[in-house]
Amino acid sequence: MTTSGIRQVKPKAEGWEQRKDNSGRPLLQFASPKRGKPPVHLADLTPEQRVEKVKELGLPGFRAKQLAKHYFERYTRDPELMTDLPKDGREELVNGMLPTLLTEVRRLQTDGGDTIKFLWKLHDGALVESVLMRYPGRITLCVSSQAGCGMNCPFCATGQNGLTRNMSAAEIVDQVVRANEIIAKGELGGKREDDNSAERVSNIVFMGMGEPLANYARVMQAVRTMVDKKEGLGMSARGITVSTVGLAPAIRKLTEEDIPVTFALSLHAPDDELRDEMIPVNSRWKVDEVLDAARAYFDKTGRRVSIEYALIKDMNDHPWRADLLAEKLLARGKGWVHVNPIPLNPTPGSVWDASTLPAQREFVRRLNDKGIPTTIRDTRGKEIDGACGQLVVTEEDERASEAAAV
Ligand code: SF4
Repeated sequence: MTTSGIRQVKPKAEGWEQRKDNSGRPLLQFASPKRGKPPVHLADLTPEQRVEKVKELGLPGFRAKQLAKHYFERYTRDPELMTDLPKDGREELVNGMLPTLLTEVRRLQTDGGDTIKFLWKLHDGALVESVLMRYPGRITLCVSSQAGCGMNCPFCATGQNGLTRNMSAAEIVDQVVRANEIIAKGELGGKREDDNSAERVSNIVFMGMGEPLANYARVMQAVRTMVDKKEGLGMSARGITVSTVGLAPAIRKLTEEDIPVTFALSLHAPDDELRDEMIPVNSRWKVDEVLDAARAYFDKTGRRVSIEYALIKDMNDHPWRADLLAEKLLARGKGWVHVNPIPLNPTPGSVWDASTLPAQREFVRRLNDKGIPTTIRDTRGKEIDGACGQLVVTEEDERASEAAAV
């Protein structure tokens, strides 16, 4: 029992064994295991490097721009459709610059067709997922940045099997291009019949598989391509949310980039005692250090930081924790932060169960009363396990992937 009279349950991995390091602490994997690299793709390269690569393939450099237009604006990878390129050598050029990175294995739809979860196979057989969601006035794609994850959070399905490998910048970007292609074909439901506007992904959240800041260089290269107005996807930086469980040095690095993306910190607990167990990387960078880094991000960019907080029954949803969270945020000033509590996807009987409605309301009320804007986040996609911490490759996915390969 706690001082507030609500019992406290301890975090624990259920149905899987959490990997430990030599000192008995949860294993943290920062380095990507060595595997064959994915083929280099146009979206891995800067515009200058693309020109060089096209020249290496024996064509004039200006063809790079034409290819980029096909890929980023028309979502085309089919040489047949690129009639502005000379027929001679066209196929070789496309194969060399736009190799296939993602093979669709499976797609699951829910919310009346408004949400689609994709299972993709990468060139080496690794499986990743992305989730496409239509909301009023925007289309959001939740992308993966790593196959698996090395952060070993005990409540998270993705972390169970550790890190398979970092994804390349192009593998990250290609999730968006493929989603745009699908939207353009009218395969995402929910569009009003009288609406003929061209649509595409407007918002990206790095909340699929992986810890984005553990794959920093490739994630940033992908973000640069997403916001590049001339030779990229031309998206708005504020529509892109980069999240982290708290890799403080990488947050400081992100602060120095000149790209004002929306920054989200998955905090989940305001006290180190609990956070050390829920988020093993907290053993390296404690709550205060991470919050200081988040506040510095706001100071530099003027972008309000989102604090993500999975509300878990009797674990982190105590009123005193709402008060402590408010205290720690207010200690760093007002108006710089927004709290998004997310009721965990319920697994009845598990220690990882969603908070009760009264507990959710009380948590939100305490923060709002202290002047911290707090809104419960929509957990769209939970019927298809597409909400945060729910993306995991199951044995069933592996079987589907093998069947698709036959
Ligand atoms: S919660 Fe995020 S950081 Fe933690 S294991 Fe899952 S994907 Fe990785």
